[in-house]
Amino acid sequence: MITDILDLGEATKLRGQVVVVGSGIAGAEIATHLARHGRDVILLESGRAQFDPSIQALNDVIFLGKRHRELNPNSYYHQYLPAELRGVSRVRQFGGTSNVWTGKWKYLQTSDFEPRSWVANSGWPISFTELVEHYRSAAKDYGFGDLEAEAIRPEIVALRAKIAVHGLKMSSFYWEQTPTRTAVRFGEEMRRSKNLQVVLGATATELKLDASTQRVTAIACRSLEGRELIVEGETMILAAGAFETARILLASNRQLPNGIGNAHDLVGRFYTDHPKHHTGVLHPDFLAQQYAQELQYAPKPRFCVCFALDDATQEAEKLLEHVLYLKPIYEKPINRLWRTLRGRPAYQDDNGTIASYRVKFVTEQIPHKDSRVKLATECDSLGNKKLEVDWCFTDLDRQSMAKTVQLLTDRFQAARLGTFDFADKPPNLETMTDAAHQMGTTRMGSRPEEGVVDTNCRVFGTENLYVASSAVFPTGPSYSPTFTILALARRLGQHLLQTTLVKK
Ligand SMILES: Cc1cc2nc3c(=O)[nH]c(=O)nc-3n(C[C@H](O)[C@H](O)[C@H](O)COP(=O)(O)OP(=O)(O)OC[C@H]3O[C@@H](n4cnc5c(N)ncnc54)[C@H](O)[C@@H]3O)c2cc1C
Repeated sequence: MITDILDLGEATKLRGQVVVVGSGIAGAEIATHLARHGRDVILLESGRAQFDPSIQALNDVIFLGKRHRELNPNSYYHQYLPAELRGVSRVRQFGGTSNVWTGKWKYLQTSDFEPRSWVANSGWPISFTELVEHYRSAAKDYGFGDLEAEAIRPEIVALRAKIAVHGLKMSSFYWEQTPTRTAVRFGEEMRRSKNLQVVLGATATELKLDASTQRVTAIACRSLEGRELIVEGETMILAAGAFETARILLASNRQLPNGIGNAHDLVGRFYTDHPKHHTGVLHPDFLAQQYAQELQYAPKPRFCVCFALDDATQEAEKLLEHVLYLKPIYEKPINRLWRTLRGRPAYQDDNGTIASYRVKFVTEQIPHKDSRVKLATECDSLGNKKLEVDWCFTDLDRQSMAKTVQLLTDRFQAARLGTFDFADKPPNLETMTDAAHQMGTTRMGSRPEEGVVDTNCRVFGTENLYVASSAVFPTGPSYSPTFTILALARRLGQHLLQTTLVKK
């Protein structure tokens, strides 16, 4: 059932077998999965069904380093969204950020999990093989196209080979027609479920520990209207996104002064995003025609491709993964005249004649300790400390970006894919925006000295507290994190069912 904290009458306490915080893709997935398997689940969600600016304001942070884009009804970003949601990086509403996301699904590659000697703090303590069954089952259940089959489609293999000789690689992602909105996908099931109780308007403010400080016994919640609620459970899962998950751990500092899971001062650190840059065009050369079908953005759903320098070049030049997306810009009559006068060929896809491609560069960041979120002294309207966000880069990030742009420029020309034109604005980290992909604030490690959660996403130092979020990503090489968030949530669900959660 779905309730509101204001509908709970006199009740000030609830109890579930599992308590999940957050109803985005991670939280909704794991809560419904466990409820379907007969476990009693309570899902706490700060937002409500409708977007409410005063609840959204609980996400406000203080930027110390590079800023994010912000809510702005006139934003260039997300013109397809209602004005009140444009430009936002995280959404506090039932369904979370899935209310605004774009619906591109991409899985990590095997190599993304491996340590790279030239990237400090790289490498995951789990491998691709430990996630693959969850990627597969998610793709089947959500009805995505088969990315594994797509990767070996003969046309794609042939196109990949043509650019491989130039030190370039190409990968595919699946783009939904209507992006999965968890409130739509799971709303009815949640309403009808006998095992799942969703409580809207309930902001988790603090985790309560037992005397051993190793077991979370309850989660304290508050609403903007002043309602308070204590929710007890056996297993607690934080699925509140990378910022708010770290915030809850840090704010739960009554019994452990540094917060929960923070014995090694790692909570909130290693924050990375995917800085992205939207300026510049590619003037296509003759080979681009062969890629045109795979690059077009419509009709959806569809598979699309993106480019990067190949792994050998990244290793030889000590570079990060910088990914290049190309969006067709179609010819207008004036462009046609210009092209005809110059005797240039026409490049076509199914939607028209291509004048050029709009360039989007998206980059991985080196995970490092100083890029972080931490508690501020200023409080939000619930009296909780806000987050200070110090999003910053290293010299290696900058060098890697500059070198990659130069190599891609040379190689695109050599391959006759086209020529970049960035005018006076070449891609550069200082002018890039965030991609709304917050990662790494409770990174996964093999040992407590290396991370906040273990390989099962359990918070080190606790027996029953787990994280389902890109917060656990040690690195974020691939541009789209959500497929991996979903796969990890499903893996955690399976782990809990097999190990700790006895059916009642
Ligand atoms: C415009 C946009 C486009 C995007 N496009 C893509 C894309 O195409 N592909 C891709 O892979 N990724 C994309 N992303 C990123 C993607 O949306 C996120 O990775 C994903 O939605 C994160 O899901 P989540 O469940 O971890 O977190 P969220 O969806 O952010 O859910 C967290 C939930 O926790 C709730 N919450 C927070 N704090 C508390 C608290 N204290 N108590 C109770 N509840 C709390 C929030 O209200 C929210 O509902 C996009 C993001 C944006 C903004």
